Amino acid sequence: MRAIKLPIQRVKSAYVGVNPNISLFTEMEEMCEAHGGLGLAAIQVDCPVRQAIIKYSCHFDYVSPLGYIWMCDTSYYPREISQLTQIVESCLSLPGKRYLVHRFDSYVVRGNFFNFRTQTLVDKSFIVNKPTPFQHEIDHFNNVLISDIGIFISAKGVTHEH
Ligand SMILES: [Zn+2]
Repeated sequence: MRAIKLPIQRVKSAYVGVNPNISLFTEMEEMCEAHGGLGLAAIQVDCPVRQAIIKYSCHFDYVSPLGYIWMCDTSYYPREISQLTQIVESCLSLPGKRYLVHRFDSYVVRGNFFNFRTQTLVDKSFIVNKPTPFQHEIDHFNNVLISDIGIFISAKGVTHEH
């Protein structure tokens, strides 16, 4: 059984093409649920491939019974209308820490997604009008952590977001 590896391995993840590890997705869902996370990238469980899961309620055909999107080899591209917004994020690979990061508020996510209705992998683009969590997980594919791009705020629970 895999587990979240601390500290995280600092490497770029490999492309998986049309053959992602499906059982890895399933195990990552279990770990994300156990830790109360919003998403998880495979590198966080010490498996440097471009696979990630995100808890996301839209796009029904692409959401697992537990409410996750399974994606691989994805990238994100800011839309012309997009602006940078500051938000507070945490990461299961940086337990107990919170960072203020800049994120695009509107962007296109492109790559391969598992369609739970057809049980196949589909090459797809989504427009996402929320600052997270796709950018956070895709950054993991490229060896970028919120501690690399953000401003350390506090330990969890010391300050309030709102
Ligand atoms: Zn993370």
